[in-house]
Formats: sequence, structure tokens, C-alpha cells
Amino acid sequence: MEKIRKELCKYGKLILEKNLAAGPGGNISAREGDFVYLSPSGFSLDEILPEQWVKIHLKTGKQYGELKPTCEISMHLGCYIERPDIRAVIHTHPPITLGLVSAGITLKPFYPDFVAILGSEIPLVDYVVPAGEEIRQAVVEQVRKHNVVLLKNHGAVSVGETLREAFTRAWMTEETAKMQATGMALGKIRYFTKKEIKEIENLKAEDYRKMLLKKMK
Ligand SMILES: [Zn+2]
Repeated sequence: MEKIRKELCKYGKLILEKNLAAGPGGNISAREGDFVYLSPSGFSLDEILPEQWVKIHLKTGKQYGELKPTCEISMHLGCYIERPDIRAVIHTHPPITLGLVSAGITLKPFYPDFVAILGSEIPLVDYVVPAGEEIRQAVVEQVRKHNVVLLKNHGAVSVGETLREAFTRAWMTEETAKMQATGMALGKIRYFTKKEIKEIENLKAEDYRKMLLKKMK
């Protein structure tokens, strides 16, 4: 059996463990060559068995196996077509992030790891109907230039060159939302200036951190 199936199980469990989705919420996928492995529809991400991930040929759309893939399949495939460099797409319903963005508050950089791992900005897209062409278009347009996209009244999408990288971005997005909500409740957050963001982007140590994220599984 493909190694990637076991890896998907590991990250499916971690998503529930880190409270990034509840019940059957969220969906994840990974790409290997021309094949994409997606979470099946209606499952909690921590309950999927290795053989249950739905295998699809990215170019022909041919599906292997009996289970129905996630209803967000179009969004996942759209991300892989748009970004040949990525190998994983993680869509979550993280509670603190979802609360903040639905109140119209975007996540903005105010600590170094934000810039190094999530990027210098995270776009927030307005609410669109899930599970179809509208969400595919809205997400793909942002994924072109960003590794994390926030969805108003819905959740978040993160991508990466490995499952570990996409997961770390999903996890850190929610941790950032907690920090930002805490800062906002207690006072006024001092966000990074453009110059401070550039300084982090230029740090050699951060290159090393990014490299580690890509290599480790
Ligand atoms: Zn969703």
C-alpha cells in the first residue's frame, strides 16, 4: 500500500487532536505523481483507514475505489493544478480563527514565525457557497500567491510541499488566532511593520527553518 495513505491518517488524527476541526468537518489531500489522495466524504478525519483515502488521477479524473471523495474535491484539485510545487492541501474549520475572520478580523504578522511559516500576509476571502466552483475559484485565486487562505464564515485552507508543511501552517494559523484574540482582548497589538517583515524574510536562520519543514515528515 502507498506510504502516503498512512501519512494522511497521521495528519487526519493530528487535525482533530489540535482542535482544527470537529465531527466530519474539514478535508485533506496529498499528491503523489499524477495521483491525489483525498479524504472520503462524511468521515471524521481521525477515523479514516489507510485504504479509505480516495485515489483520483489528477489529469483524467479517474477515481479508484468505492468511497465518495470529499465534497470539496474541486477546490483540492484546483490547488494542485494551480500550484505544481505543492503536495498537500489541508482544509480545516479552526474555531478561534473562524470566530475572528467571521467578525471581519484578519490575521496579521506580529511575531517572527508568522512571517517565516505562514507568510507576510494571509488573504481573507468573503463567504462563498461551499463544495463547488465558487469556492474553487475563490481559493485557487489566492493560493496562486499564498500558502494560507482564510475563508469568512467557513474556515481555512493551507498548502505545502509536504503534508507536514501544510499541517504546520494549519496548526500555526489557529495558534496565531488565539494569540491575536488574546492581544486584542487585553490591549492594542503592535503588528510588524513592512520593514520588520522584510527583515525576517531576509534572515538566514528562517531559511533553515523553512528547509526543515519541507524535509521532515
Ligand atoms: Zn469546510
